[in-house]
Amino acid sequence: MSLTHIFDSHAHYDDEAFSEDLPQLLAALPENGVTGVISCGVNTETSRFAVRLSQNYPYIYAAAGFHPLNLEDVPADVPAALRPLLAEKKTVAVGEIGLDYHYEKETRQEQLALFETQLRLACELDIPVIVHDREAHEDTLRLLTRYRPRGVVHCFSGSVEMAEAVLRLGMYIGLGGAVTFHNAKKPVEVAAMVPDERLLTETDAPYMAPVPLRGKRCDSRMIAYTAERLAEIRGTSAQAILDLTAQNAKTLFGIA
Ligand SMILES: [Zn+2]
Repeated sequence: MSLTHIFDSHAHYDDEAFSEDLPQLLAALPENGVTGVISCGVNTETSRFAVRLSQNYPYIYAAAGFHPLNLEDVPADVPAALRPLLAEKKTVAVGEIGLDYHYEKETRQEQLALFETQLRLACELDIPVIVHDREAHEDTLRLLTRYRPRGVVHCFSGSVEMAEAVLRLGMYIGLGGAVTFHNAKKPVEVAAMVPDERLLTETDAPYMAPVPLRGKRCDSRMIAYTAERLAEIRGTSAQAILDLTAQNAKTLFGIA
């Protein structure tokens, strides 16, 4: 596959899975068709790491935020911690933020408060959000409807009805390796209905490697497989998928 315009709208290159060979891996991305990556933070440290990467690599952009599964790392004043990171030239989103009721049900109230604080900040600064929603569709949709941020629901796992609601809010839908999984049902239905102008591709690297590499360490190059599957579902070519999703990412995140 010799594809180009691969834009990975969601990766975690701070992850220790990359600690051995990160510079070599990142340097190899452009020659493998990757033209853009957003590395997402989940707390202060990883958000800073993402900002540093964005300063060192022309094709990497940063997102800064507090993930709902990192509550122990959350400072008392979240906006104060995020503002300097969001002011950096190549920080393009507040993320990764959201709700996760799969692993953490008992922290629901804390998660909701943290998500709201960051939604408010994103709206105040008019910066897009990158939203994580795992088994929390109802509350996610309620808060997105209340705050109406610009942004994307990443690794979209909801139903077609939920996707319709997210699209009505003007938001984007991020799809990654899950569309290639043999048991995938909802992501495939959603992949078939998202309008061209609202679709983003992503990895969630180092997680969610697409078939045939499922279970391996994932990196941005593997979007080629996801694009092949999306193309099959949508009746187009992988390159056409990559062209339009790269353009969409640039539009949403204000990248020239
Ligand atoms: Zn993520």
